[in-house]
Amino acid sequence: MVKQTIQIFARVKPPVRKHQQGIYSIDEDEKLIPSLEIILPRDLADGFVNNKRESYKFKFQRIFDQDANQETVFENIAKPVAGSVLAGYNGTIFAYGQTGSGKTFTITGGAERYSDRGIIPRTLSYIFEQLQKDSSKIYTTHISYLEIYNECGYDLLDPRHEASSLEDLPKVTILEDPDQNIHLKNLTLHQATTEEEALNLLFLGDTNRMIAETPMNQASTRSHCIFTIHLSSKEPGSATVRHAKLHLVDLAGSERVAKTGVGGHLLTEAKYINLSLHYLEQVIIALSEKHRSHIPYRNSMMTSVLRDSLGGNCMTTMIATLSLEKRNLDESISTCRFAQRVALIKNEAVLNEEINPRLVIKRLQKEIQELKDELAMVTGEQRTEALTEAELLQLEKLITSFLEDQDSDSRLEVGADMRKVHHCFHHLKKLLNDKKILENNTVSSESKDQDCQEPLKEEEYRKLRDILKQRDNEISILSEVMKKLPLSWFERGMREEMSLGCQEAFEIFKRDHADSVTIDDNKQILKQRFSEAKALGESINEARSKIGHLKEEITQRHIQQVALGISENMAVPLMPDQQEEKLRSQLEEEKRRYKTMFTRLKALKVEIEHLQLLMDKAKVKLQKEFEVWWAEEATNLQVNSPAVNSLDHTKPFLQTSDSQHERSQLLSNKSSGGWEVQDQGTGRFDVCDVNARKILPSPCPSPHSQKQSSTSTPLEDSIPKRPVSSIPLTGDSQTDSDIIAFIKARQSILQKQCLGSN
Ligand code: ADP
Ligand code: MG
Repeated sequence: MVKQTIQIFARVKPPVRKHQQGIYSIDEDEKLIPSLEIILPRDLADGFVNNKRESYKFKFQRIFDQDANQETVFENIAKPVAGSVLAGYNGTIFAYGQTGSGKTFTITGGAERYSDRGIIPRTLSYIFEQLQKDSSKIYTTHISYLEIYNECGYDLLDPRHEASSLEDLPKVTILEDPDQNIHLKNLTLHQATTEEEALNLLFLGDTNRMIAETPMNQASTRSHCIFTIHLSSKEPGSATVRHAKLHLVDLAGSERVAKTGVGGHLLTEAKYINLSLHYLEQVIIALSEKHRSHIPYRNSMMTSVLRDSLGGNCMTTMIATLSLEKRNLDESISTCRFAQRVALIKNEAVLNEEINPRLVIKRLQKEIQELKDELAMVTGEQRTEALTEAELLQLEKLITSFLEDQDSDSRLEVGADMRKVHHCFHHLKKLLNDKKILENNTVSSESKDQDCQEPLKEEEYRKLRDILKQRDNEISILSEVMKKLPLSWFERGMREEMSLGCQEAFEIFKRDHADSVTIDDNKQILKQRFSEAKALGESINEARSKIGHLKEEITQRHIQQVALGISENMAVPLMPDQQEEKLRSQLEEEKRRYKTMFTRLKALKVEIEHLQLLMDKAKVKLQKEFEVWWAEEATNLQVNSPAVNSLDHTKPFLQTSDSQHERSQLLSNKSSGGWEVQDQGTGRFDVCDVNARKILPSPCPSPHSQKQSSTSTPLEDSIPKRPVSSIPLTGDSQTDSDIIAFIKARQSILQKQCLGSN
């Protein structure tokens, strides 16, 4: 059993704006426990305490300042936890902090760069690497991904890709057995045999999460996500199985409601979110106080799910994510206070071992059989009749699989029937003799000599041949992967479903989207990696054939030497042949080169796949945003029915929060009876009013389209309240070209406004 308090770490996010100095300091004296001091500037502190500068000091296991990269955070925080999980203990890492402080960045990673991958992908990579290294146990890995929103659980690993809102995902509920163990009904566990499969599951969950998020639910801020790696291990032949779970938790934003300034529906949600964080706090307070017998785990789903992680059988680590900018200081202080409480909680992690009854039965059956056999031998009861054809055949099959079994512990079990035992010996003898004859026939007299001198050689060749064959397979798998690179995924698939007008709009949208730079960058990196992989593949092939040639040369040289010895009637020279030595060292060098290149190719493969997945995610995001925007434009058009001609293509989509304001301005223009548009070419203003047109994003009209004319409609309301990914593109070219015309008109107006204001 390992007794340990929950480990607390702090991570400070780099500021969005320029660095504000003097707000905090980190004291990391080697001998002392590191501490973080937050200093409230005079103007903020004034409000609290008589004109004094307030400062708060918090101790952490370690504090990661702004410049700490993802690798450092993984090495120091997650790797030790992953290590204990591999040893059979439960582990939990949870990130706690206000929205925007870097929880998702720390747990999952950034969506842009490969180097920004967070704790989950790095941990998966580490765990699978370790599993591969350890051949003493048989491991099984499963993944689950749960999202808790408004006290309801959802299975993010729903493979159907049909979810367009959270409610479409399978609902997960909690069940408690008589021993008070928590079971999650409907949460699927997916087996992952490789890092690649596990990463695909992570991305599937993240994509489902992204699709299910609407501007209304803002799930990424208001929900908790628990990615769990379930690891079980057993030694070959043993009936004892070890189970360990690693929860990687991205909690909802910890900000207080007052500050977020939300109302109505959102307030209810905020209350829920804060309620579940509030219950988490209660559990933590209860746990940190001595002699408290009742811990209110059951109050919320999250605390029920994480029950073991909090004060139970688990090694738990908390990362307090902090955004230490002036306006966030009070939230940061409350995050640190929370962490100090958490640090008082003691956990007791034990090895979770379980005896698998099926394996026990198998073992007992075997034992009984052995005892029976022994008894038969002792009593000397012999069977006399000859074995049947079928029995003989069965025995030979057993012998073949026994000989093929690489496990040194494997046994040939025929029971205590002496006829069978004798037959086995006969058959084995026959096989041995057949093999000898075959070898005599195929090996020349010279090489027979050589075999006698170097019995390992043949074995070595065979091994090398096997390795080469395996590498060949791996290379061909790699080239398959690379062939599938989505270098032009934008160009595929989506277009077929779009009308011309819609395609044109999508092109503009795509070009001006903030993510397009990242996407292009990643495309470039992918191309580079792809070329590198290709070149490496070629070099590997060259190295491989060189290894083959060198082997061949060494053999030839050896045969020559032996032949020389025979013809001159002298023993093989005791001195090593220099030429052969040289060839051997070349061979070793080539093998090393091969290995280095192969390792690099494998790393490239992981990176390429990661980038592919990042781009797939960006694709889904872009498409989703386009659909929302498209539907919005269609709705606006339906209300205002403007159609104007303009040749301007600039700035179709403004991602700023000002866009509502701009829309309002556009809408209010309508009241003057039409649209005023400056034609770029002539500088002339055209006024156009086409109120007669009605345009809907058919066949599924927005339920909110009729309410749209008010300029004071909040942003959320202007977005259709139905699953965004199900909004169809109109597919009607007339309608689409109307929308395009509208977009162009709007661009023109915006540009005019910009020019006017400058
Ligand atoms: P949260 O999940 O806590 O709401 P995010 O992880 O989404 O916050 O972070 C908000 C933004 O800040 C994201 O754009 C993220 O990429 C960026 N960010 C967070 N932490 C870091 C960091 N340590 N280094 C660089 N960027 C960061
Ligand atoms: Mg987040």
